[in-house]
Amino acid sequence: MANQQLMEKIVSLCKRRGFVFPGSEIYGGLAGTYDYGPLGVVLKENVERLWLQMFRDSRDDMYGVDAAILMNPKVWEASGHVAGFSDPLVECNNCKGRFRSDHVPVKYEKDENGKIVNENKVCPSCGKEGTLGEVRQFNMMFKTHAGATEDESATVYLRPETAGGIFANFKNVVDSLHPKLPFGIAQIGKAFRNEIAPRDFVFRLRELEQMEVEYFVKPDTWEQAFEEWRKAMHLFAEAVGIPSSALHELEVPAEERAHYSKRTIDFEFEYPFGRKELWGLAYRTDFDLSAHEKGSGTPLSYLDEETKEKFIPHVIEPSLGVDRTILAILTSSYREDDMGGEVRSYLALAPKIAPVKAMVSPLLKNKPELVAKAQEVRKELQKIHPAIAWDDNGNIGKRYRRQDEIGTPFCVTIDFDTLGETPNLTDTVTLRHRDSGEQERLTVAEVATRIRSSIS
Ligand code: ATP
Repeated sequence: MANQQLMEKIVSLCKRRGFVFPGSEIYGGLAGTYDYGPLGVVLKENVERLWLQMFRDSRDDMYGVDAAILMNPKVWEASGHVAGFSDPLVECNNCKGRFRSDHVPVKYEKDENGKIVNENKVCPSCGKEGTLGEVRQFNMMFKTHAGATEDESATVYLRPETAGGIFANFKNVVDSLHPKLPFGIAQIGKAFRNEIAPRDFVFRLRELEQMEVEYFVKPDTWEQAFEEWRKAMHLFAEAVGIPSSALHELEVPAEERAHYSKRTIDFEFEYPFGRKELWGLAYRTDFDLSAHEKGSGTPLSYLDEETKEKFIPHVIEPSLGVDRTILAILTSSYREDDMGGEVRSYLALAPKIAPVKAMVSPLLKNKPELVAKAQEVRKELQKIHPAIAWDDNGNIGKRYRRQDEIGTPFCVTIDFDTLGETPNLTDTVTLRHRDSGEQERLTVAEVATRIRSSIS
């Protein structure tokens, strides 16, 4: 399938089936914002829950925080965001459009030997050459005011990343829980970036969600910790159904890394619009805690009880965008095949993150005895997981297709055999598998076991 077409199909499915809607849509939208709908919100929660489980809760060395989005502006002065969190901006003198200068196409003029003699930037909006002005730096932090005054002294920022709230709470976590190094702090939350050109659905947003860890280590052990988190990120990709074949590690060369980072890997994913950054993993030395110690005047060193050594811990940062993860999952799982002579589309979601785990349905909705039995089966299965849906609309084939499209791994159908019409089939149901469309006859207890093992 052509990439553009795949992207259109994903966006349309998301809207039609209630995964993701354009933000403020009834007012014509707001660029760079999207809203998660009834199914999308559950998908997102499932992804986040899995991340919490793998990155925080299953480990003795991890702690959580949920910091405020609004922080003392000095946090962002110390971190370097006020001075340097910017993208290069150019404005077109002709159409007045504004663009990121590194996203602008360039047209090359060559001489008869093929040597480039001239290069001209082309305006991505009006298509004119040579109309783009000087590059200037545009700070991407959203500014607002705290309280009833609107002067400079009341300026606060919407956080551009969740990491700031973690560093600012390093001392609180150490003082309250006394963790031994190495240990980390994990947080999920919203971040805001005034992107010059939001684009590609939920890939480049102005309001986004991040799942971040700051993992504090003794300086001489950073390489081992870096490797551990690199592996953890691959395991997480696998768990949410992002195939390793579509995930690429890009070692960011020294000249492109932040000056304090000794190693950075961009985890890139093959999106329909190109290979782009999905997540990042960086060794940030002691830059952040040192900067916040200096900025706040509060000592942020750590005392090693055994060696009595006092030092600022170094940090490894696995940083994962939730929205880019959701888009990578949708891209990886969208499939089309031929079923019964018709094109069928489905989402091959990992059962763990699928918003609906199974759908239960009576073969005919006008037979009260079938409906009653199906309701009983549904209740039984809901003991395993509450997300067991009910559908008795239209014919059974249509019900299956609807569930395929939203990625429901199993459908369970109750018919007259379940009620005893064929004696040796009494209390058995049809279990239908999403990906293959295959059906088997099982007892309710066997179905329960299948569902349980698929999501455990
Ligand atoms: P890019 O180079 O694509 O702008 P970045 O390098 O600025 O991304 P980071 O600052 O490393 O991104 O942010 C950490 C993670 O947050 C990214 O790996 C990505 O998953 C997510 N992220 C960053 N910017 C956006 C955005 N505008 N919309 C959605 N997710 C984002």
